[in-house]
Amino acid sequence: MYDIVIIGGGVIGCSVARELSKFNVKTLLLEKDSDLSSGATKANSGIIHGGYDAKHGTKKGYFSHRGNQLFDKLNSELNFGYAKIGSLILAFKEEDFKTLNLIIENGKKNGVENLKIIDRDELLKIEPNVGDAEGALYCQEAGIVSPYEYCIALGENAITNGVVFKFNSEVLDIKKNGTTYSIETHQEKIESKIVINCAGINSDIISNMVNEEYFHIIPRKGEYLVYARGYGEKVKHVIFQCPDEKGKGTLVTPTYHNNLMVGPDAQIMEDKDDRSTNIDNLFDIIRKAEKSIPNLDNKKIIRNFAGTRATSSLHDFIVEETKSKGFINVAGIESPGITSSPAIAQYVIDIVKNIFPLEDNINFNPYRVANIKRKNESDFLPMKDLVKDINLGENDPHRVICRCEQVRQEEILEALNRGIKITSTDGVKKRTRAGMGICQGAFCEPKVKKIIAKEYHISEESITTREVNSGSNPIRVEIKKLRSLLK
Ligand SMILES: Cc1cc2nc3c(=O)[nH]c(=O)nc-3n(C[C@H](O)[C@H](O)[C@H](O)COP(=O)(O)OP(=O)(O)OC[C@H]3O[C@@H](n4cnc5c(N)ncnc54)[C@H](O)[C@@H]3O)c2cc1C
Repeated sequence: MYDIVIIGGGVIGCSVARELSKFNVKTLLLEKDSDLSSGATKANSGIIHGGYDAKHGTKKGYFSHRGNQLFDKLNSELNFGYAKIGSLILAFKEEDFKTLNLIIENGKKNGVENLKIIDRDELLKIEPNVGDAEGALYCQEAGIVSPYEYCIALGENAITNGVVFKFNSEVLDIKKNGTTYSIETHQEKIESKIVINCAGINSDIISNMVNEEYFHIIPRKGEYLVYARGYGEKVKHVIFQCPDEKGKGTLVTPTYHNNLMVGPDAQIMEDKDDRSTNIDNLFDIIRKAEKSIPNLDNKKIIRNFAGTRATSSLHDFIVEETKSKGFINVAGIESPGITSSPAIAQYVIDIVKNIFPLEDNINFNPYRVANIKRKNESDFLPMKDLVKDINLGENDPHRVICRCEQVRQEEILEALNRGIKITSTDGVKKRTRAGMGICQGAFCEPKVKKIIAKEYHISEESITTREVNSGSNPIRVEIKKLRSLLK
């Protein structure tokens, strides 16, 4: 019997797991996939929003600023990589400034300070490649993270502090037996006093296993394009466009590892699992992005992907104990869910404390050593100096496995031995960046597969290379079409 079962290993489930590991409770996290961060947490903009945007009075408004404020401390403990680079909302016309002032008012109500409107001269000083914008709303508090590294960091630290994680464990049914719950997966039946539903896009299905239906999830897909590492330097801040009657505009941002990223759009989907991308949508995204940053070097595009927001039919985050006592929904966590995650997790602890006494875990260790060390462009060796290390013997830990990101065998071995068994090259990619470069794994993926197989004594055939249904294919074929369209 567990005290608490968390369903879902995205950023919400992992934040809750880590927060619970500060207490002496027997906690289990169930994830249907073979790894953490395989839902929305894997495929999003990675922005730690300032918290000014979400409407005051909503749960989103409440959690987003509070979450933002917790990131410095979290990163100092967990070392997932967070850069507070600030954000800009560009104003292109007079009416946009009215909207920006409304956003400032809303932000202040949410508790956000240091919001200011800057004119074109000041804008050009801090963001020299910007297009025809007349000014912008500047927020110093916004930042960027690598979302899957953040999620993995939370998960690893929760494991260090005693939470049990089970993968390939899809929850198929839940029954209430008096005061406890019986949770069924393909492998087993698990008993728990409390259930916390963090199942993202499936959180409505999980809720309906125990409660009468009171919300449903509307999947809203967003597509992105990623440009080669180094090109992130084209912009210094997270750059939004002022929302107007045509929509929220397109984002241009550096990623934490210095790629450039543009997107996302918003498409309501029938199929929750459809994360495919479409050439016309990508084309449209580039055109809109070039309004903010003209003349993007589209030869540098290396990848496209899509992520799906779990928008709730109640149009806000749902974070509450349901009518079924001991069953907590943390559902409909669309954007800014990454930003809000630490504040949501603290709130969930308060809910749990009302149901169940929580006693401090005096052995709680808040620290976790970084997996990936962020490199500056100057840290990368020229190819001529790399050849020797690429050709090192198979057992040499110093052997370079990924040329593009210059990842060595020892880094991959380290990632494989941090408490979560990684059975996909994608899992190694998320933890080391092997496969994130220009060739998108063409060179290193077979080698990574061999290393995983050897380290765990498993067959290469059992290791998945690309995630099923992810739709996040390398863009090589489509890029040709995209480029011809762009001409
Ligand atoms: C396009 C896009 C852009 C975004 N941009 C930002 C941003 O810039 N900043 C920001 O703060 N937020 C952003 N978000 C929102 C953010 O990504 C989400 O709010 C957050 O990742 C949600 O986390 P989650 O844990 O609730 O869901 P998920 O990450 O989807 O995790 C849910 C997990 O539950 C598992 N699961 C599902 N069903 C079951 C089952 N039956 N049994 C067991 N496990 C199950 C899934 O496999 C998955 O791992 C964006 C989202 C999208 C899609």
